[in-house]
Amino acid sequence: MKLIVLGPPGTGKGTISRFIEAKFGCEHISTGDLLRNEVAIKTSIGKKIRYILNKGKLVSNEIAMQVLSKKICSLKDGFVLDGFPRNIEQARLFDELLIKQKISLDLVLEVDSDDKVVIERLSSRRQCVNCKRIYGHHVPSKKVGVCDDCGSKTIIREDDKPKAIKQRLKIYHETTKPLVDFYSNKKLLLKINGNRTLEKIFPQIEKIFKKVV
Ligand code: AMP
Repeated sequence: MKLIVLGPPGTGKGTISRFIEAKFGCEHISTGDLLRNEVAIKTSIGKKIRYILNKGKLVSNEIAMQVLSKKICSLKDGFVLDGFPRNIEQARLFDELLIKQKISLDLVLEVDSDDKVVIERLSSRRQCVNCKRIYGHHVPSKKVGVCDDCGSKTIIREDDKPKAIKQRLKIYHETTKPLVDFYSNKKLLLKINGNRTLEKIFPQIEKIFKKVV
C-alpha cells in the first residue's frame, strides 16, 4: 500500500502514519524528520535549512525532493508519506518521480482538523530529541521531560512555538490545502475527521485499509 497522509500540522499525521506502519507494514516517511535529521547531523543542506525550519516556513521544493527521492528510491514495499507534498508543484514533481519509478499511489488520506484544535495540540507537544517520539496533551510521557521509550530528553520544537504555529497554519491553508482538490480530481482522496481522539481515528483507518487493500 502506498499512501499520503495529508492535513494541517498538529493533526496527528505522524502518529497516524506510525500506526499504519506498525499495522500494515508501509514504511513511514516524514520529510520533516528527514530534514530535521539533516539539521541535527549538520550536513550542508542542514546548515542551509535550520533557520527556515525554526521559523516554520517551507524549505525549497528542490531540497524537499532531494531528501525524499533518496528515500523513495531505496524502498521495496509500501510507504506512508507524512508531510509531503506540501504544494502543487511538489505534487507534480512527485507524480513524475512515481512514473519514473513505476510506482502508483493507492490513497491520499486527508486528516481534516480545525485550527483551534491544532493550536491547542501543537502548544502542548513535546518531542524526544533522540527517537523523535511525540508526546502531547492526551499522550504525556510518564515522567515530565523524559521519553518513555529511550529515556532521552523531550523538548518543545522551535516550530511548535506560538509564532511559528501561526506561520505554519497560514502556509497550510494557502499552499497545502489546494492538494485536496488535486488528489480529489485523481479520485485518490479520502477524508477523515481529525478533531477526534486517536482512539476513534485508528479503528476507522483499519476499516479503510481492509476495504482498499
Ligand atoms: P513537519 O514535521 O512535517 O511539520 O515538517 C517540519 C518542517 O520541515 C516544516 O515546517 C518545513 O519547514 C519542513 N518541511 C517538511 N516537509 C516539507 C516539504 N514537503 N516541503 C517543504 N518543507 C518541508
